[in-house]
Amino acid sequence: MPNKRGFHTRAIHVGYEPDEALGALTPPIHMSSTFTFGSAEDASATFAGDRKQYVYGRVHNPTQALLEARLADLEGGTSALATASGMGAIGCVIWSILKPNDRVVVHRRLYGNTFTLFRHELPSWNVDVTFADLSDPAQTEAAIRPGTQLVFFETPANPSLELIDIAAVSAIARQAGALTVVDNTFCTPYLQRPLELGADLVVHSMTKYLCGHGDVVAGAVIGAEEIIKTVRMNGLRFITGATISPIAAFLVLRGLKTLGLRMERHSHSALRISRLLERHPKVARVFYPGLQSHPQFQLAKSSLPMFGGLISLELKGGAVSARRMMNNVRLTRIAVSLGDAETLIQHPVSMTHSAYGAEDLARFGISSGLVRISVGLEDVEDIEQDLLSALDAA
Ligand SMILES: *Cc1c(COP(=O)(O)O)cnc(C)c1O
Repeated sequence: MPNKRGFHTRAIHVGYEPDEALGALTPPIHMSSTFTFGSAEDASATFAGDRKQYVYGRVHNPTQALLEARLADLEGGTSALATASGMGAIGCVIWSILKPNDRVVVHRRLYGNTFTLFRHELPSWNVDVTFADLSDPAQTEAAIRPGTQLVFFETPANPSLELIDIAAVSAIARQAGALTVVDNTFCTPYLQRPLELGADLVVHSMTKYLCGHGDVVAGAVIGAEEIIKTVRMNGLRFITGATISPIAAFLVLRGLKTLGLRMERHSHSALRISRLLERHPKVARVFYPGLQSHPQFQLAKSSLPMFGGLISLELKGGAVSARRMMNNVRLTRIAVSLGDAETLIQHPVSMTHSAYGAEDLARFGISSGLVRISVGLEDVEDIEQDLLSALDAA
């Protein structure tokens, strides 16, 4: 299928023809751990690399392969690897590419478990990790110097939703000889395609928007064929074994069919809700890239068609007020994760980012009055009413 077709069309069709599967409109789930050979000669030729077929389910599976083809297409990469979780994807990349004594630069605010990986785990393997504010050009220039192997960030960054200029940071990284890896979980390829802006690899927690229905844990890495091959054959096959199950791959394929529709709805509702929250007397500040008050509103407007479904807000009454707000929602659910049909609320300091510890929370500027909302797909009026009455009680 030619790539010039639109995003929604490609999210539904790429990589699958019904006649491959007895005419089934929906792709089958291949629940097989191993794949048979027609002869001993075929088997040995396959292992020698002279012949291609599916061999064993840790490395390849046809349902997984279809998902990978679709992900590569949507992100504008040539190749993809689907994994058992977002952390599995990040782990496959890290353990495939880095060696002891390598140097890594990461943005100072990250998803809590990614933070722990870079702050505590990698240093114990003698990888030198520098935390910098990559939304600040001067700090970025100073941090990414020759001898850096990897630059890693999320944009918008978790949990405070500042933006990082992917094209600018990737250019600096390339000049220093470093690979740029962008966690595109928050935006999805519907809103932002980092590979087209110069990044080398995209990672995802497909648990979030790509699946979109809160029923799967899964991840992905997308990039050029050569590097994805390394990530699969080293990171996945030998080191992590973080293989996606065929059922999870199928559920993500199903979720992808409505990704564009869902991102539009999440984004439109979140913009409306962020404007409403900004006017509430108990709210000190709302962080949403689509608000004029966002420090990088110009970058947001020029780089994103719409601004996604995540809103963070700082309550005037700090942690006490945050807890009261959470205890007074009725429709919204208190839960980590994001990108589901249900609106979710969480308190980063005591939940997703509790692994930072008090000192790092202060150092990296994550405050105890911060609440993060993942705006769901319910009627926007119902979400608004729920959040406003919870705020009144805060
Ligand atoms: C959830 C999340 C991850 C980790 O993904 P899992 O699927 O939970 O392993 C990584 N990055 C971001 C931005 C996330 O939100």
